[in-house]
Amino acid sequence: MVAEIICVGTELLLGNIVNTNAQYISREMARRGIDLYYHTVVGDNGERVKEVIDIALKRSDLIIMTGGLGPTKDDLTKEAAASFFGKKLVFDRRQYQHVKEKLESYGIYEMADSQKKQAMVPEDSLVITNPVGLAPGLIMAQGDKAIIMLPGPPKEMKAVLSECCNLFINKLSNQVFVSINIKIKGPDELPLSVIGEGPIADELGDILDNSNPTVATYAKEDGVLIRVTASGHTREDALIAIKPVVTKIAEILKDKIAWVKEDTD
Ligand code: ATP
Repeated sequence: MVAEIICVGTELLLGNIVNTNAQYISREMARRGIDLYYHTVVGDNGERVKEVIDIALKRSDLIIMTGGLGPTKDDLTKEAAASFFGKKLVFDRRQYQHVKEKLESYGIYEMADSQKKQAMVPEDSLVITNPVGLAPGLIMAQGDKAIIMLPGPPKEMKAVLSECCNLFINKLSNQVFVSINIKIKGPDELPLSVIGEGPIADELGDILDNSNPTVATYAKEDGVLIRVTASGHTREDALIAIKPVVTKIAEILKDKIAWVKEDTD
């Protein structure tokens, strides 16, 4: 299963906001063992959104899109995806009711035309109610390809992605991934010549060629981080694969290690 991410928003291209959605979704996919080779950012332009969908669907099975699902004219992600698959936008009663109730909970009893737009969804799409906002998540599938559309605001994106994982994404992979981080002491505790990424990698030697678990080193400002990642059918299987490698690294690096803990971000 190969997925890729398309984030829609001129704000992203202008540098007005940081693309934290792409980072979050990438981590969620990695954790589920779903390969991800590309991130794309595209502005609020229907033709260009369709163009990047076309490119992405030629090389990936699943596209996860964020942004551009709101009520304004420049929000055109669902229009572009629907048009790409040759579908119309149709009225969704359940989504209309959701928007109505949410607005009423804010004391708004008159729905603006732009807000009614949020009840229009691509025909044949699966509509995922947004528990913390108005714009729903949308899943469109054709053959063995699928597009998931998520709202842009990170809180909404996370809530709707979580629903999409329960309903759809978790079934695409039968693997779980677990990572253990090993932090090497920082420059105020050990000389740089001992703790640089190079010397640590030299000490680890062949361990870095391991496949399950994989072992990778990262140079951080406050010292090197080693990440040991294993996959398995269950979390327990992954931990069984990780444990001997973490023990071996601890034997090699001994008191250079500051801490060892599971990566849960
Ligand atoms: P809305 O209903 O709020 O308009 P939307 O799905 O149309 O939702 P956008 O209009 O594209 O989303 O973005 C709304 C806000 O969400 C942005 O102003 C920004 O604060 C945040 N946002 C959008 N995309 C991203 C992203 N990729 N990473 C982080 N934040 C984002």
